[in-house]
Amino acid sequence: MEIEKPKPQRLYQVWRGSNRFLFGGRLIFGPDVSSLFLSTFLIAGPALAFCIKISCIIRHRIRENKPALSWYSVMIVAIVLTMMDMFFLFLTSSRDPGIVPRNTRPPESDETVEMNTPSMEWVQGRTPHLKLPRTKDVIVNGHSVKVKFCDTCLLYRPPRASHCSICNNCVQRFDHHCPWLGQCIGIRNYRYFYMFISTSTILCIYVFSVSWINIVHEKDNVWKAITSDILSDFLIIYCFIAVWFVGGLSVFHLYLISTNQTTYENFRYRYDKKENPYNKGVIKNFQEVFFSKISPSLHDFRAFVQEDEVMVREPTDHNFMEDSSSSKEKIDIGSKCGENNGLTLPEILRSIECDEIEENLKHEEGDDGTDSNRLVSRVEQEPDKHAIEIDEEIVDYVKSDQTTASVQA
Ligand SMILES: [Zn+2]
Ligand SMILES: [Zn+2]
Repeated sequence: MEIEKPKPQRLYQVWRGSNRFLFGGRLIFGPDVSSLFLSTFLIAGPALAFCIKISCIIRHRIRENKPALSWYSVMIVAIVLTMMDMFFLFLTSSRDPGIVPRNTRPPESDETVEMNTPSMEWVQGRTPHLKLPRTKDVIVNGHSVKVKFCDTCLLYRPPRASHCSICNNCVQRFDHHCPWLGQCIGIRNYRYFYMFISTSTILCIYVFSVSWINIVHEKDNVWKAITSDILSDFLIIYCFIAVWFVGGLSVFHLYLISTNQTTYENFRYRYDKKENPYNKGVIKNFQEVFFSKISPSLHDFRAFVQEDEVMVREPTDHNFMEDSSSSKEKIDIGSKCGENNGLTLPEILRSIECDEIEENLKHEEGDDGTDSNRLVSRVEQEPDKHAIEIDEEIVDYVKSDQTTASVQA
């Protein structure tokens, strides 16, 4: 009897991230892709209503033997803007945002022996004999930048990369995870994301202006036009509300682009307080976002993967950092914080609750969402202090204490 060979699998079929794929791995979306339907509806619905309104005006003018050519062009512009908006929406949400390929095993410790690392923190995962520093310093444009080890992807994140807790991938030049598009915004789709929000803003202003002109046009009785033209009223109110959202976002991203920051960096590091190593001047920053070549995807989602690769990939599903910290260690942290057992914490730690420290230890690497690091936000409230540096000091301090306490026990 012949043993049936397992069917060869493609990368997207054994994908470790939370992404969803369409058309046999040709399109990649985030796990919350369903929100794309809502976003499409919120754009296409009012755009369709606007076109219906314009076609009514055209019919009315033709019936009255008035010239309607200008209204045809109004309609064409609206259709072109809507199609462009949809196109950018699709480009942003359906392509690889710049996912960093995971390692199947942690990097060799030899690679890191020579490394200059100020951190006393070590990564000890599934391979206890292997010791890797949790952070290492990389020189970017003459500035020293700290890169962190990702426990899920088993790699040192490239500078500006961050792990998206929703998609469960490290993404290059991570900006944010967009819940409206259900996709990460990273190095490969940021340009399209900006085109999308700016086109949405223009579309909003356009529909608002035309609808308003349409009402004011009724010079004889503007109030009558307002009360009778419900569709135009709806479009005016809708676009007025929407433009604050998309317009505000466009302006904010214009500022980020001109200063070469990502949303994540802006929220977390606040470069206006310290020097931004990526800032090359306004013109070059714009060139980088809009005119540089988009790097090819580091994945071929349709490529067949080796069987052993699938096997190795299997246990890496969860964050081994969490696994490796035994319940005893967790109790150690708890007891240390809860009771006064002789350990003195730095002044700054005294106001912080124990749960927050433990939470921070658990999530420090696992989910790097801008709002996840409550400890950082607490510390940021302290005047004249660098939030990130202090954050790392605290974590280093608590963790080294934890080691000491475990040894003593
Ligand atoms: Zn990662
Ligand atoms: Zn994401």
